[in-house]
Amino acid sequence: QAKAAGRNTFRFHDPAVQAAWLARAELESGLRRALQRHEFVLHYQPQLDRSGRVIGAEALLRWHQPDGKVVLPFDFIRIAEESGLIIEIGAWVMRTACLELARWQRQPATAGLTLSVNVSARQFTEPDFVTLLATIFAETGVQPSGLRLELTESLVVTDFTSTAQTMATLKRQGVSFALDDFGTGYSSLAYLRKLPLDQLKIDRSFMRDVLTDQNDASIVRSIIGLGDSLGLQVIAEGVETAGQHQFLANAGCHLYQGFLYQPAMSAELFMQYATTTH
Ligand code: C2E
Ligand code: MG
Ligand code: MG
Ligand code: MG
Repeated sequence: QAKAAGRNTFRFHDPAVQAAWLARAELESGLRRALQRHEFVLHYQPQLDRSGRVIGAEALLRWHQPDGKVVLPFDFIRIAEESGLIIEIGAWVMRTACLELARWQRQPATAGLTLSVNVSARQFTEPDFVTLLATIFAETGVQPSGLRLELTESLVVTDFTSTAQTMATLKRQGVSFALDDFGTGYSSLAYLRKLPLDQLKIDRSFMRDVLTDQNDASIVRSIIGLGDSLGLQVIAEGVETAGQHQFLANAGCHLYQGFLYQPAMSAELFMQYATTTH
């Protein structure tokens, strides 16, 4: 069979392995095409303070395929990271997010909002990352003080020294930082104290059963306490019910994000939402 396919064709013996390899290769070329054909879109999920006021949004990547299908990051971010395509995709995300933030900053009703952008470890540790941001800041005219980068614990733990350095450089330009999916990784208190962080983002997985699972409830309370004692803002993501909101409010959580308030929405809808509810 392998022979019949010709000398330059490589075949796996295990059909399941071959199918997985093919699916992956197709996804990779799909992502490449998506970049060329401008199929990526950013959506914006509102973030609220204790009084329910919009303080900003998290930019979330969507892939709008030509057939109308919308693909969520779960289905492609890992492959984008492993293939290195995340560098190019991430640069697009950053440029698009900063363009949008600059637009907010030109309107009085949205000028003070913060835009949070997810950054992959691979992207943040690229030697050119700081230069890329400087170029984007200059091109878009954005005030970097409105930009918050969401980093993950694994990045912070594996590349502590260079991560801390890059953070410090960007911090001097006004950029702020959130530690995303907090509580799922291995960051120690020592790390937290030494990094120029502004915000801890409680991982969604702790929210789900927070009302019924005593461990989850304790973890959420501890993260809020930790934030308070380190002077960091704490934001909960994945808030879906009024009961969860009440729990968080009682525990003193600072900021809120989740389907209970709003899902991620298009740039136009977010602008409308923020100008009518501010
Ligand atoms: P994340 O940064 O933890 O983002 C929050 C995810 O939770 C988003 O999923 C959001 O739609 C979802 N979410 C928000 N509220 C609720 C809720 O109340 N209930 C539930 N069940 N889910 C909620 P999404 O957009 O599918 O993104 C998944 C992950 O993909 C993100 O997790 C982030 O790690 C990554 N990602 C998204 N956009 C980007 C990007 O531009 N660059 C990079 N590198 N990663 C991204
Ligand atoms: Mg995030
Ligand atoms: Mg998160
Ligand atoms: Mg998460």
